[in-house]
Amino acid sequence: MTKVYEKSPAFFETFDRKPGQQHTTHYCPGCGHGTLNKIMADLVAELGIQDQTIYVGPVGCGVFIYYYFEGACASAAHGRASAVATGISRSNPDGIVVSYQGDGDLAAIGTGNAIHAANRGENMIVFFVNNNLYGMTGGQMAPTTLLEQKTSTSPYGRSEINDGYPLRMSEMMAGLEAPTLVARVGVNNPKNIRQAVKVIRKGLEIQRDKKGYVFIEVMSQCPTNWKKDPVEACEWIDDVVCKQYPLGVFKDLTDERQAQRRPRREVEFAAVAKQLGLRGDDDTGLDKMTLPQPEMRFKFAGFGGQGVLSLGLMVAQMATERNMEVTWLPSYGPEMRGGVANSSVVIGENPIGTPVVDVPDVLVALNRPSMDKLSPLVKEDGLIVYNSSLIDQIPADLKGKVCPLPATTLAAEAGTVKAANVVVLGFVARMTGIFTLAELEEFLCETFKKPALQEINLKAVAAGWNAAEAFI
Ligand code: SF4
Repeated sequence: MTKVYEKSPAFFETFDRKPGQQHTTHYCPGCGHGTLNKIMADLVAELGIQDQTIYVGPVGCGVFIYYYFEGACASAAHGRASAVATGISRSNPDGIVVSYQGDGDLAAIGTGNAIHAANRGENMIVFFVNNNLYGMTGGQMAPTTLLEQKTSTSPYGRSEINDGYPLRMSEMMAGLEAPTLVARVGVNNPKNIRQAVKVIRKGLEIQRDKKGYVFIEVMSQCPTNWKKDPVEACEWIDDVVCKQYPLGVFKDLTDERQAQRRPRREVEFAAVAKQLGLRGDDDTGLDKMTLPQPEMRFKFAGFGGQGVLSLGLMVAQMATERNMEVTWLPSYGPEMRGGVANSSVVIGENPIGTPVVDVPDVLVALNRPSMDKLSPLVKEDGLIVYNSSLIDQIPADLKGKVCPLPATTLAAEAGTVKAANVVVLGFVARMTGIFTLAELEEFLCETFKKPALQEINLKAVAAGWNAAEAFI
């Protein structure tokens, strides 16, 4: 009889990451991540813990797990998944917290976070996907890279003199007192997959029973960056990788450990705000802004380094000061492979439904790719401001008011090209009427304390403000 395999109910029915690609993941063919994701989803469904499970995703090839697992998901900054998972675990003592990280993320950038979460014995299961290099960013050497292994940043092979030795995270974690279960498994052949299923099931059961910290290192093939076909990559794990990273269970205290429950500490926002030097109250005493419509949706886009995230933040901060409802949503890093960085800001008189800005009222495009990609999305009566110092060609048939602003040139005249975002701030404020020049100047003086920086930014904002004259 033919056995029919069905997709785990712990996965979404369709993966809505990209139109036309809704039944496959983004992983490369033969990649170990896909196999691991399937094992996790099958076991979460089998154990009946889907409603309790909270996934914390990394930066790296595992970044898109929120498109695949139907459950609560959070994305952590690079290396910080164990720290974010700690917060989630402490504030959701009934949840089952799954932290998912690669070797660049956990064993390099976030080593400290990972070790201390383990040492505290947090209630969480950590999947440490080890493919010996940074996969998503192009195969750079990681602390886990094998000696003599060639990567894009070790073209002559890793050397112990230069780069140290491959880091055995599982052995290190097993040396700590707190972890309950530490194991290394493989997903490269049926025998290893069967063993991985057993260990992962146990790890999830430990979480269900609140018995503390679990660390499961998963030796995972990366055919793309290893420059091998999928079969060769699977064989290479057995023949070479596992000599350095032997599979096995390094520590298992499941039977001895009791359930540990940390009391959920309620935290007063005002106390946290005080600790961080922020205002604890909601009302600044300033009048609300007058918007041309009840809600305004902005998109600020450009290359990383052009200050588009801080431009959005400045607008958001000023609106917050004026007691408006505000969201600021930055987008950069893995979402942006080869694309543009951007920040979305929504300012409203009423609570905001979503911080995502698909159809902007105002678009600022500081480089050509962002102009090409985002300008056709702007509303019919919207505003498009583009950096004419860098963009010499714009898409045809754009809707809305299209304003060329030589932001880089005006910023250079003010003292530094880095102030191009402040030039834009002045321009957009005047075009939309959301802030006065005096309000902008006051904000910049509070933000930039050094006199030299203050002078440049005041000149830059005035240049943008004056440039708007021609379009009003
Ligand atoms: S780059 Fe490597 S780890 Fe990343 S998805 Fe492709 S095969 Fe998998």
